[in-house]
Amino acid sequence: MDLYADRSKKDSPNAFVELLWERGQKYERELADNLDIPYTNLMTLVGSEKAEKTREAIERSDDLIYKPRLEAEGLVGDPDLIRREGSGYVPIDIKAGRADDGDGGTYKDHYAVQLGVYVDLLERLGCSAGRYGYIWDVHGNEVQYDFIKARRSKSDDTYWDFYVGHLDQAKAVVAGVWKTKPAACSDCKMCHWYSECKATLIRSDDLSLIPELGRAKRDALNGVVSTVKEFANADTGDWAKDGAHKIKGVGPKSIEKFQRRARLLSENGKPYLLNVVSLPHMETELFFDVETDPMRDICYLHGFVERNREDNRTESYVSFFMEDDSQDQEEETFRAMWRYVSERQPCGLYFYSKYERTTLRKLQKKYPSVCSADDITDLFELDRSVDLLYDVVKSSTEWPTYDHSIKTLATYLGFEWRDTHPSGAASIEWFDKWIETGDQAIRQRILDYNEDDCRATRVLLDGIRSLRSPSHR
Ligand code: SF4
Repeated sequence: MDLYADRSKKDSPNAFVELLWERGQKYERELADNLDIPYTNLMTLVGSEKAEKTREAIERSDDLIYKPRLEAEGLVGDPDLIRREGSGYVPIDIKAGRADDGDGGTYKDHYAVQLGVYVDLLERLGCSAGRYGYIWDVHGNEVQYDFIKARRSKSDDTYWDFYVGHLDQAKAVVAGVWKTKPAACSDCKMCHWYSECKATLIRSDDLSLIPELGRAKRDALNGVVSTVKEFANADTGDWAKDGAHKIKGVGPKSIEKFQRRARLLSENGKPYLLNVVSLPHMETELFFDVETDPMRDICYLHGFVERNREDNRTESYVSFFMEDDSQDQEEETFRAMWRYVSERQPCGLYFYSKYERTTLRKLQKKYPSVCSADDITDLFELDRSVDLLYDVVKSSTEWPTYDHSIKTLATYLGFEWRDTHPSGAASIEWFDKWIETGDQAIRQRILDYNEDDCRATRVLLDGIRSLRSPSHR
């Protein structure tokens, strides 16, 4: 898109993505400033001058070069550092996140491809120490990425093969040999081509508009059907018979599910229940939503809309908000929230996704004096605690929408957020500004947004209660 699409159609940069960049750069600068070994600093240089000075530093055999530029045979790379090891150099990239996927050894694919470019460039320049590089991560770890390593346990393909495959794809895209095609995915909402790609997908009635279908299944299904409408009207009987062979990676059950969704979308039908859903009826109901900042690694807000006797006129919003970003504040906020929830028992507790549970578990580990791990487990395992996304929406309902986010479903049901750009990512950016400035208007914006998220969960619950199965519609 950056190479070939009309740039005037690009969205403005996503504020959260900009915040990630800023924080990443700040972290890099702080790390470089605190290096206790001498290094050659090329940070202020740009373009060909930077590349020239990098070549000179390599020829001099400088031990550590900060912000070099590597250029060779049409490839360009800007690693954060290159370090002399033995008779050559290895690249190092600084990340304000974890170095791996968190399962004790699986590299992050996008980090591997990025380091692969730098290793490749050092090889082409004749000064590589070997096929490996390093990530310096947010926890102060230096993690080696070894390109000789197999990428998957049951495959001989190495990370180097993986990198080379991506390089070939990138070259084909640049040469115009491979025409790229958008596919709706969760990353799209943060991408500056979102509006343009979405319009293209809708125009072409692309299969990836079907919730959860994704790029790989879209590409597999494209051998048989190309639009949502075609899929809706297709006779899939023979696909199901030998589905595993005919459409790789899309089994008969998935075909059935996605065709249901294709029909709803193309007919603009009404949402419905797939099976009987049993939802508790309690005197008090709490609709719960947390806001977290993954970069500060804190939970800065617990919000609840409380309703009594299923009467919306009784609704009130209760919030537990951190007044600064210290650990003491986080603990105090967690403690106050826990006291509130405990005092409201027995009550119905509704939330959207496993995130609330994961967050409370994490907080409990951090602050065990607030409550026990069993307390958290018990709260979420009660019959009256309902994850509307996983326990109900995904398993028991169908919607004529492109995704199942709370924003999409509550909006479908007529709910409107007061904020013009509501999103969890935006809230993190506002929280960052609130910490920096102490601006009360920003604080209120965060609270209003969270309150609306809680209220949207209530709207969704009521909407689900009114759904019927297709035979009763
Ligand atoms: S498909 Fe999605 S992620 Fe890819 S360019 Fe388009 S909006 Fe961005």
